[in-house]
Amino acid sequence: MRPPQHDILFEPVQIGPVRTKNRFYQVPHCNGMGHARPQALAAMRGVKAEGGWGVVCTEEVEVSPHSEIAPWLEGRLWDDADIPPLALMAEACHAHGALAGIELMFNGYATPNRFSREIPMAPSHLPVRLADPIQARAMSKADIADVRRWHRAAALRAKRADFDLVYCYAGHDLALAMHFISRRTNRRNDEYGGSIENRTRFLRELIEDTKDAVGDRCGVVVRFAVDQLLGPQGITAEAEGREVIECLAELPDLWDVNLADWSNDSVTARFAEEGFQERYISFVKGLTTKPVVGVGRYTSPDAMASAVRRGVMDLIGAARPSIADPYLPSKIEQGHSDDIRECIGCNICVTGDQVSVPLRCTQNPTMGEEWRRGWHPERIAPARGSGKVLVVGAGPAGLEAARALGQRGYPVALADASDQLGGRILHEAALPGLASWRRVVEYREQALQRMANVDIYRQSRLSADDVLAWGAGHVLLATGSRWRRDGLGRQHRVPIPGLDAAAAQVFSPDDVLAGRIPPSPVLIYDDDHYVMAGLLAELLHTRGCEVIIATPSTVLGEWTVMTMEQSRVQGQLIRWGVPIHTTHEITRVDMPGHAQGLLRICLSSVYTPTELRVDCASLLLVTMRDPEDALHCALQARQAEWAGAGIHEVRNIGDSFAPGTVAAAVWQGHRAARELEETIEPDAVPFRREFIQINPAAASGA
Ligand code: ADP
Ligand code: SF4
Repeated sequence: MRPPQHDILFEPVQIGPVRTKNRFYQVPHCNGMGHARPQALAAMRGVKAEGGWGVVCTEEVEVSPHSEIAPWLEGRLWDDADIPPLALMAEACHAHGALAGIELMFNGYATPNRFSREIPMAPSHLPVRLADPIQARAMSKADIADVRRWHRAAALRAKRADFDLVYCYAGHDLALAMHFISRRTNRRNDEYGGSIENRTRFLRELIEDTKDAVGDRCGVVVRFAVDQLLGPQGITAEAEGREVIECLAELPDLWDVNLADWSNDSVTARFAEEGFQERYISFVKGLTTKPVVGVGRYTSPDAMASAVRRGVMDLIGAARPSIADPYLPSKIEQGHSDDIRECIGCNICVTGDQVSVPLRCTQNPTMGEEWRRGWHPERIAPARGSGKVLVVGAGPAGLEAARALGQRGYPVALADASDQLGGRILHEAALPGLASWRRVVEYREQALQRMANVDIYRQSRLSADDVLAWGAGHVLLATGSRWRRDGLGRQHRVPIPGLDAAAAQVFSPDDVLAGRIPPSPVLIYDDDHYVMAGLLAELLHTRGCEVIIATPSTVLGEWTVMTMEQSRVQGQLIRWGVPIHTTHEITRVDMPGHAQGLLRICLSSVYTPTELRVDCASLLLVTMRDPEDALHCALQARQAEWAGAGIHEVRNIGDSFAPGTVAAAVWQGHRAARELEETIEPDAVPFRREFIQINPAAASGA
């Protein structure tokens, strides 16, 4: 049974006319499904309800085509035709006893209305928040009346779709109500501008309208960013954030409070610890008798219970922890907190939404696959046969494959050359701020230890002879990858000239991860564009190396924009005085005779032939990885011997198949386990899709 100190998490909370079954609250979060993939969305939210969340919310839901956020796929309630898709989700939540919440949204200047081409609206004239050459226009009183009417109509539709909680959204610098509140976006001098009471007027009206429309049956929630982390220029918890709560204290049925913008709300673990928002939001409960929900990437039931007990919040809000483990509440309820698949705070989940594809998760490979592939985070089909499976390599791919195969009931042998499980994570989790990445290993190692049908062989580097002699019917190879040290990558399709002569001073990330520190000064060349170059720069700088960075991209770690880390990484290095030469590629490496022991790195602008020369003691190339697939190749070459050795199948997975993210390796490991001994039709689309049904009446314009 669960420890009694966690009982507090299972108390109900009254929110206006509705009551939750517990304090677990999945706050609104984007997912790359939205209005385009309603069945996938309903299944994903339904699994969370099944996993015990007392409240499960939508993502932002557009109330009108006058404010739509294409190409991002969010929810829509533009008119009655949008009710049935969203009703699917409410139904899926209710089927498991959860309340369904809907976050109504009018984006204001945060959207250019790329799809509808309606001119965006804002409190004052302002270029839109994205870089589109479009300006939002200052709203007239008639515009304000229109938006209130659209919002009210959407609330009524939400009620018809059977939602229990309806949001008025004033968060993340994404919502019009927040744009009215913030002096940065409101320069009006009528009753909607000037004093904080005036700037709060629009949000007050939205709340009153919504209560009037649906308050008899639905709880009305306000999501408000109490701090923008912009100092006195913006809303702060000490000043205007507090004043807004004071102003509206008892009006909503629930306060959902957090930070703006989204990158401050969903900070990666590298830059914020569990519970990081408490210091900003904890004042709220002192100003209202209404319940409060907050977030802070809580994965520990002790931290959650403590936040409730200390009076910081009444409901534990979670987006990422609910993505990493939809069953988090029921695991705590049943006293199985050790089984929680804890979020590692990597923000890979955010990257799917950024490009409008179903979200994915490093820890939870089933996320986004609930409907289209029928994957469940806790259940998996039993083994088809009883044949032994050998998994070689215990990095993320091998660990997840072994875990899921063990769960299916197969006899599994997991072998790794190292004396520790974890593969790349063992080294990468030691990089600055990545300690939580170890959870990828810990969750799986603990699960494997509980499985009597899984044997683990450490310090066991297997050769092709070993594999053939093993006597396993199925072999999964997850032997990882290694970084190249010749510069080949996106920018360079042939090795960088001059590296051979300089080999002793050229390093790869593998060298540094293995503990070799390049002599200072070191030039780090980022043609990988994810986290590695920035992490190594941080590591080496803090070890006293003089670091210089060059990249052909316009910014360091270009893809970390997707995980909302880029500006933090580059900003920190700039503050430390690390020179960053963007838009420069290496053309060659020389060893000038006059500067003993120094390399001369010749860089050229990617726009012009202008050359820049940097003298340094070492060069650290972060470009691309090669699969570590020698074992796979050796086994393929001996395919004629498989039958004699009892082998039916050899499958290469994870980084040894194609190097990628940890999330991709975990997903491939999981997929291989699900597909073992299943009949896979190679020409069939491997998942279900949602189709648009042509309505002949609409098509003919009738
Ligand atoms: P992935 O991300 O695909 O899981 P990793 O690089 O994290 O890959 O892990 C690969 C693991 O495979 C490492 O722990 C490594 O020690 C192990 N390994 C590589 N070759 C062999 C081999 N021949 N026999 C056993 N283990 C191996
Ligand atoms: Fe957490 Fe990373 Fe999964 Fe997002 S992708 S929920 S941050 S583990």
